Amino acid sequence: MRQIAIVGSGPAGYYTAEAAQKQWGDDVRVDIFDCLPVPYGLIRTGVAPDHQSIKGVSRRYEKTSLSENVRFIGNVMIGKDISVAELQDNYDAVVLATGAPNDRKLGLDGENLRNVFGSATFVGWYNGHPQFAQLDPDLSHNTAVVIGNGNVALDVARILSKTRGEFAGSDIVAHALDILATSNIERIVILGRRGPHQIAMTPKELGELADLERACPRVDADDLPDEGEDALLEPGQRKSVNHLRGFAAIPEAHRADKPVDIEFDFFASPKAILGDGKVTGIEVERTQLKDNRAVGTGETYTIDAGLVVACIGYQTSPIPGVPFEEEAGRFANDEGRIMPGLYCVGWARRGPSGTIGTNRPDGFSCVEKIAEDIGDGARKAGGEGFEALANERSIDFVEFHDWQKIDEAEQARAREDAPREKFVAVEEMIAATRKS
Ligand code: NAP
Repeated sequence: MRQIAIVGSGPAGYYTAEAAQKQWGDDVRVDIFDCLPVPYGLIRTGVAPDHQSIKGVSRRYEKTSLSENVRFIGNVMIGKDISVAELQDNYDAVVLATGAPNDRKLGLDGENLRNVFGSATFVGWYNGHPQFAQLDPDLSHNTAVVIGNGNVALDVARILSKTRGEFAGSDIVAHALDILATSNIERIVILGRRGPHQIAMTPKELGELADLERACPRVDADDLPDEGEDALLEPGQRKSVNHLRGFAAIPEAHRADKPVDIEFDFFASPKAILGDGKVTGIEVERTQLKDNRAVGTGETYTIDAGLVVACIGYQTSPIPGVPFEEEAGRFANDEGRIMPGLYCVGWARRGPSGTIGTNRPDGFSCVEKIAEDIGDGARKAGGEGFEALANERSIDFVEFHDWQKIDEAEQARAREDAPREKFVAVEEMIAATRKS
């Protein structure tokens, strides 16, 4: 019997478990660990609350969890409660599927001012991640700046601009809805350091901006390259750029009943965050493209703003004893192999890119590496070894049936039109597992 430990219960972890089941059938046992008492990682706390159809993929992971040879073990922090080396002592293979939960830094003056957030923090806040539930952002200023031209920037801009009614059917947490209801934001500037042809935004997500109740996207037609040049783009990117062209053509009359502007500011690189204690604005430098890179022109200007959210990518958290590539913000690995017996998948392996589905081939390729390394499998203690350690250290771990109780309780306390009201404190989650 092969014993595999997967650290992280997001998409990369579950696809790896699925791949192990495909590879070895009943001849494998998989324990999936998570530091929270709830599974699904990014699906629960990263995917936007108004993108419920994307979150539906968790039903597939639930099926995996309910199979005989897979076990979810939550509320255990690997690297703190139990070390990676201890897991390696007990499992034939340890797979780090820990994602990339930390914000990349801008490296600019003023980055630590109040009301300047990275997207992991801000998204974690509106998605009810226990670490960020207390954030309490101030939305009283009329302008917010969102830095970055990826899908996370779109998520943040969209969430900031929606009415309460537009959150029907979403699982946005109550504390975020309450603060959003106080918002005075009328201008959301999305800063892109390069141009429309270089955006990392996908068409469906970009298209959503055209259908918002009180907000309207704005693109300066002068920023758009000649239409003929779109032919050079790959089809998805061409569709995205088509949306930008559509936004540039929206007549002013159409904006009359849309008090919130979502303004794309291209060729605009942040230089410094301004303020004294709290952010009051951002200094920006105009750029031009040279060899597809943004190069400053020396022309600068200031945008007055009371909220800045940097959506510029994420980094994996280092774990003591595991080789780490600082620059890339991920574990040092060769196609998923950190060393025989220790592997990484998903964002922890390749950095924060790709869709949820990209993690599936990643999981399969990782299991191929494991199969090469462990052959018929060694004979380690697996879950029993973990339980012995957990008992010794009084680790209060939870399993999938405990999550099912949390899930049920969250659904039971949902407001009207919402699939659930998440618990945002670990203690509340644990308390829900104790109810009969
Ligand atoms: P991303 O797609 O990598 O975009 C990051 C953006 O930040 C890029 O436009 C990048 O510009 C910009 N940037 C990086 N460093 C910067 C700096 N110092 N100053 C100014 N701009 C900077 O990252 P993401 O938006 O965080 O998304 C992560 C992944 O999750 C992506 O694969 C994304 O597609 C996926 N995702 C998907 C969905 C969805 O499908 N609905 C939703 C959310 C996220 P350059 O290009 O110039 O480097």
